[in-house]
Amino acid sequence: MKTIVGFLLLLASGSAFGQSTADTIIARELPSARAYETLSHLTDDIGARLTGSKGAALAVRWTTGQFREWDIPVSNEPVKVPHWVRGREEAHLLSAANQNIVLTAIGGSVATAQSGITADVVEVDSFDELKTLGTAKLRGRIVFYNNPMDMDLVRTHRAFEAYRIAVAFRGAGASRAAEFGAKAIVIRSVGSASLRTPHTGALHYDPKQPKIPAAAMTAEDAMLLHRLLARGKHVRMHMLLTPKTLPDADSANVIAEIRGSEKPEEIVLIGAHLDSWDLATGAIDDGSGVAMVMETMRLLKEMNLRPRRTIRAVLFMNEENGSRGALQYAKDHGKEKHIAAIETDAGGAAPTGFTTTLKGDALAALEARTKPLAAVSSNRFEVAEEAGADIGPLTEAGVPGFGLVPEPLHYFDYHHTNADTLDKVDPKELAQDTAAIAALAWILAE
Ligand SMILES: [Zn+2]
Repeated sequence: MKTIVGFLLLLASGSAFGQSTADTIIARELPSARAYETLSHLTDDIGARLTGSKGAALAVRWTTGQFREWDIPVSNEPVKVPHWVRGREEAHLLSAANQNIVLTAIGGSVATAQSGITADVVEVDSFDELKTLGTAKLRGRIVFYNNPMDMDLVRTHRAFEAYRIAVAFRGAGASRAAEFGAKAIVIRSVGSASLRTPHTGALHYDPKQPKIPAAAMTAEDAMLLHRLLARGKHVRMHMLLTPKTLPDADSANVIAEIRGSEKPEEIVLIGAHLDSWDLATGAIDDGSGVAMVMETMRLLKEMNLRPRRTIRAVLFMNEENGSRGALQYAKDHGKEKHIAAIETDAGGAAPTGFTTTLKGDALAALEARTKPLAAVSSNRFEVAEEAGADIGPLTEAGVPGFGLVPEPLHYFDYHHTNADTLDKVDPKELAQDTAAIAALAWILAE
């Protein structure tokens, strides 16, 4: 009898037949809807969470309260954040058809004059073309950057690469055009699908150039402008943007910890960003990442697991328009001993693996220990230069970084648009992502 009980205990503890704690973590999380419940509250009840907004402040309070409720030590670390507020955004063509143009201000954009801007539109598809046209052709005009995402890349698992190429015009386009006297810019929205959904995101003004208004129009409207210009038509557009930049606001990173039992000073960080764009409720960017990180902590706590090293959850503030949370964290904690940093900021579709800055023998050694991740198709590690924006300062300083890679095929269909809502996330896939994060964090912390 005693031996049977002992054997059963061994089974329950998961160490018989080679079942590791990581296997048990994955098995426990997969049937759970807890991550999805967290995401539902964050999106449907709290809503959009742009830095400086009421939603962002509520999100800090609510996530902190949840960790407390789960009896996980948590703190708020102050971060000063930009506070940009969207206003009216309207445009139409001055033509017989008087076509309405659907656009949205790029985050950080200055306003147009109160009466708006009316000017001729000049299309370009590269920064070199600005130079060719020069001040003579660009002064006083609205520059239209027509740069679609490369759909061949999107269809072959490389959507993020396609995004990085096209997004250059959103980030730097305004200042590059201002250099040649342009009055404003519009870009083709950086997205892989469109139901006339404009796509926002941040821009960076070059302090050496005048700040001009910048907007992103839908793919459909960009194609209309392109067709008209290709037919040799004179395209004149009126646009009105009334965003405001308010003084920096007080906000915080939310940091929760399960202290290590043997080496508490050694840290495995798991992170996601709590802020979102304002057009929607940020379900895929990055509510799902926040839900994965929170659920990982709740699960480990519920299972009463005590890792050898500390597992630290960081919900970063302001990834979208300033990365102030990431910079503040690096400033305050950069000197601590981070063993690894895992970031999840690529949506909530089914997991396919991780990107990592780890290479060679160190990666091979880790791969030998991450076989349990095969249960959620996440034991594929792809070496990359970086593994996430918020852990960027850490990985640049040499901390091994890991970025979860959910299937990216449809991520940029919704990302930064008013369609980034809860219905885009499948509860089962979100549970698989969470299981992958929790299991990897556990293995690294052991
Ligand atoms: Zn994000």
